[in-house]
Amino acid sequence: MDKSNGIYWDREKEVMSRDELESLQVRRLRETIRQASKCKFYADKFAEYGITPDDIKDLSDVTRLPLTTKEDLREQFPYGMLCVPKEETVRLHTSSGTTGQATVIFHTRNDLEQWAELIARCMYMVGVRKEDVFQNMTGYGLFTGGLGFHYGAEKLGALTIPAGAGNSKRQIQLMQQFGTTVLHIIPSYALRLMNILTDMGIDPRQDLYLRIAFLGAEPYTEEIRQRVEKFYGINAFNSYGLSEMNGPGVAFECPEKKGLHIWEDHYIVEIINPETLEPVREGEIGELVMTTLAREAMPIIRYRTKDLTRFIPGECACGRVHRRIDWIQGRSDDMIIIKGVNIFPMQIEQVLMSMSEVGNNYVIILEKENDIDQIRVQVEVHESIFQEDMRYLNRLREKIVRELRSEILVTPRVDLVESRSLPQSEGKAVRLIDRR
Ligand code: ADP
Ligand code: ZN
Repeated sequence: MDKSNGIYWDREKEVMSRDELESLQVRRLRETIRQASKCKFYADKFAEYGITPDDIKDLSDVTRLPLTTKEDLREQFPYGMLCVPKEETVRLHTSSGTTGQATVIFHTRNDLEQWAELIARCMYMVGVRKEDVFQNMTGYGLFTGGLGFHYGAEKLGALTIPAGAGNSKRQIQLMQQFGTTVLHIIPSYALRLMNILTDMGIDPRQDLYLRIAFLGAEPYTEEIRQRVEKFYGINAFNSYGLSEMNGPGVAFECPEKKGLHIWEDHYIVEIINPETLEPVREGEIGELVMTTLAREAMPIIRYRTKDLTRFIPGECACGRVHRRIDWIQGRSDDMIIIKGVNIFPMQIEQVLMSMSEVGNNYVIILEKENDIDQIRVQVEVHESIFQEDMRYLNRLREKIVRELRSEILVTPRVDLVESRSLPQSEGKAVRLIDRR
């Protein structure tokens, strides 16, 4: 059913009052506990914590529930957390396995329907309409980005091109032939495609019809968004999700671009201190913890995402009630500790991508020298720079070292390398190599 009204895809779910939202969350949480108890894993946990659905009186009671970790999901693999008979499930997806053994998530027909609704809501929010041609450039298959976005776009009614990942020449051809207006693309791939378009002499601003892109599935910075917007002549929106919470469609920027609305009618959202496990103060950075509220096959209670972010205080000018989170700073696993200093790869990216001499790729290498940890950053620079003399190159290198040092507080080694020489992957970029 099309409930859209020009601004909101599902007005009733997007602009209710906070009280209404919270009572919906409480009702759904009780239901979720009931549903989750159908697997032994949660039945045992709830018994251990002495919790029944009726103990949930208000939203703050969520903190009485046990946390769930990626390790729990790995231990229960494959069917241990399934809460419906297997014949009720119609699809499974897995995580990408970025940090180890992948996890599996099952869906009933209704779960998939709800997920598609959320994606349609996200896409509609930033102005995608039936008239658009949507090219989905992320991997189809077990990865959630492909099929996840696909069914949302179809639900919205846009002409959907299931392009999948890679094969850049063909991607560009599809854009030209069908007049693609909207893209879903991994940020590192959007950067790589910029090099290829340039080689082919195509200026997307003039030669293509693009107007909107969804960038997500891996951490990136505002600086990369701006590069992409400028080169393609589009409006780019941050899309955050994780397979354990369905995949894309969990949190999404609205046209205000002041944080990502996280859909609280489908998730209870907490941000905790990863060490004390207590909630952080409003606006402070911590680990995002989420509870599904409408999932049948595999409800998950208080999932520790390991993703670090903060709530953005206040209400959004777009009128949606759902709270906003800030851009993900990185995974807690990605934090680098060098000489006692904590560093996030995103800090390095932010410095590099704000420098016009720097090209579209970089890698961070951790190494040991005389038993001391060192950080080396390999940076692609624009071709023309290698035509300059050594003095210029040295000055540029020193400038990058200086700017990085003032951000990360340790002195990195910096290598300037030619554009397109660093390894690239079709899926999520691997930009941190630990050689220690
Ligand atoms: P894996 O955890 O193995 O990579 P997923 O495919 O489920 O498997 O990826 C989800 C993870 O990807 C998130 O937990 C987060 O770390 C990262 N991610 C997804 N979208 C974004 C985004 N927009 N910004 C930052 N990180 C993101
Ligand atoms: Zn908004």
